[in-house]
This record gives sequence, structure tokens and C-alpha cells, in this order.
Amino acid sequence: PTLAQDVVAGMRDIPDFPIHGVVFKDFTPILLDHELRDRIVADTVARQRGRVDVVAGIEARGFIIGAVIAHELGVGFVPVRKEGKLPSAVHSVSYALEYGTATLEIHQDAVSNGERVLVVDDVLATGGTLAATCELVESCGASVASIELVLEIGALEGRAKLAGYEVHSVVTI
Ligand code: 5GP
Repeated sequence: PTLAQDVVAGMRDIPDFPIHGVVFKDFTPILLDHELRDRIVADTVARQRGRVDVVAGIEARGFIIGAVIAHELGVGFVPVRKEGKLPSAVHSVSYALEYGTATLEIHQDAVSNGERVLVVDDVLATGGTLAATCELVESCGASVASIELVLEIGALEGRAKLAGYEVHSVVTI
């Protein structure tokens, strides 16, 4: 089987999480399977080696996969966190969710002018989270070199919110 087939098989569908009517793609079985996890990381690293100065991972699953990718690329790691978690001075971006809003933050001094940033998360759904993260990276004066996801849910059209950015997903469903 291909990597894409194994990723689809490795994700577990959880109906009615976090709210009724949503089928959540649970990524934790992939973390447990070190061979599959390593193949996902190797796929990303092969595309990105030498192209980026730092990895930005989005809380919380983007921390896990992003930190491994940063390690393999031999570059630094920057956490993009939910509101109120980062201790030093931050830039903040709020964005609309289906119900209400969410806020993400980055340390103002986490990335510097001109650095090429690889943004990493597990799943691309509607794209709001990734778009907000790109705005945060740019508010520090750095540029988004590329975005890497494990899974992209094509029907939610998240890519439309990321026009102008290079977006790679290990698998699109
Ligand atoms: P978006 O902003 O693209 O709608 O949602 C993406 C964010 O929500 C990502 O940080 C992602 O981790 C999380 N997310 C949304 N839907 C799912 C899902 O079905 N499975 C997982 N694992 N994460 C999801």
C-alpha cells in the first residue's frame, strides 16, 4: 500500500466529536505507529530539506509532528499557541470558527525578519487555523515558505483560504 493509503487507514473516525454531526479524524493511532509516523515525517522532510529556516507548529497536534520534522530538518521549532499560553510578548490573531471565534498567538521574537518558515499541522479542515498562523508568522516579518499537513479534507475547501501559499498534504480525502 502507498503512504497515502496507510495514512487514511491509520486515521480513526470519531462520530459526533467535538460536536454532534462532525466526524473527527483522530490522528493518535498514527502517533502510536512509529513506522507510519516515520514515513510521514520522511515524506515531508524530503520535500523541505534545505528550504526552510524554522518550523512553526500549531497547538497541539502540530507540536508533536512539527517538532519531529524540525529535528529531522535540523532547524528550530516555534510554538503557535492558543490565547494566554505563551509567557512573553505576543502577536495575536482572532478568526471565525463555525460558532464563535478563536485566537492564536506567537512570540513576537520567535522568528525574525526574512526567515523562511515551514508551518506544520495535522489536519487542514476549513483553513481558518492555517490562515491565522500565516498571518502571525508574517506579523513577525518572516515569510511562510510552505505549509505541510498530514491530512487535508478536500470538501471543506481550506485551500481556498490559503491562496498564494504553497500547501502540501501527505493525503487529501
Ligand atoms: P480549520 O481551521 O482548518 O477548520 O481546522 C483545522 C484545525 O482544527 C487544525 O489545528 C486541526 O488540528 C483541527 N481539526 C479540525 N478538524 C479536525 C479533524 O477532523 N481531525 C483532527 N485531528 N484535527 C482537526
